[in-house]
Amino acid sequence: LIIPSWLEFTQMIETIFDSCRESNEGEVASYIPQLARQSPHTWGMSICTIDGQRFSLGDSKKNFCLQSVSKAFNYAIVASEIGSHVLHQYVGHEPSGRLFNEICLDSNNMPHNPLINAGAIVVTSMIKPTHSMADRFDFMLKKYRKLAGGGHVGFDNATFLSERDTADRNYALSYYMKEYRCFPDESQVYEKGLREELDLYFQLCSLETNCDTAAVMAATLANGGICPLSTEKCLGSRPCRDILSLMYSCGMYDYSGKFAFQVGLPAKSGVSGIMIVVIPNVMGIALYSPPLDKTGNSCRGVAFCRQLIDKFNFHNYDSL
Ligand code: GLU
Repeated sequence: LIIPSWLEFTQMIETIFDSCRESNEGEVASYIPQLARQSPHTWGMSICTIDGQRFSLGDSKKNFCLQSVSKAFNYAIVASEIGSHVLHQYVGHEPSGRLFNEICLDSNNMPHNPLINAGAIVVTSMIKPTHSMADRFDFMLKKYRKLAGGGHVGFDNATFLSERDTADRNYALSYYMKEYRCFPDESQVYEKGLREELDLYFQLCSLETNCDTAAVMAATLANGGICPLSTEKCLGSRPCRDILSLMYSCGMYDYSGKFAFQVGLPAKSGVSGIMIVVIPNVMGIALYSPPLDKTGNSCRGVAFCRQLIDKFNFHNYDSL
């Protein structure tokens, strides 16, 4: 067993979880009603180890949208299909040091990395670019369900419709990128325009899951792309390594540097208040609590991670 004293471990996790519940910091995202309606008291956590041990607390079965956490899985899925080197002809590897939705490109006129909106929209354009929209969405949904080992992955249509209605920034960003020919030549954006491409991007942001399932998806990343529940190889080993590197440096918006410093683990957060954390070769953790701090990360989620590192030596450089 990867965690030998399971009972002792889970008791310590429960203590951390309970102490984070008391926090009343942060604000629930309000740019669309579907997010604004989330309760600030919601607090869920789930763990799945690479050998399939599981532990959940609080609202771990409450559904939410993946939002920006989808960017990490989209990258891993696309890179597994076409190869990281092909993908990175269009997207960089550097933290942008700018807001996630800022209209800016790097010095090669490419998005800085695949975890900010610019990069994620370009990555979306590489999903089966010649197929119909229905097939492209289906392809991704099937991949997500594999990563989740049979857990719940659904689609929140209301969130999708709202995202699409509040999309000015993402449209502006995409037109800017189209002008610079940031999308691959075979992308449909040059002939058909941006509408469908952005729809797919918003649809993937609107995939619905819960902590129990997100923890399995994170554990699949921790396990080199093999889902611990189904033992099926879902992602290439190299893309899996690559997304963990990117999550380590760019996964937590403009808190990524400090998070890597303090917590020392690859993680990705989304505006719904979801956060996945990966302890490579050990476990995946999913945390869900809607109130966000100024950088857009879940307040309780970040607090949980900091306490986790105080109690256990999971930080990447703890073993020194
Ligand atoms: N739907 C959001 C957007 O593209 C993603 C927000 C996020 O989770 O960072 O603006």
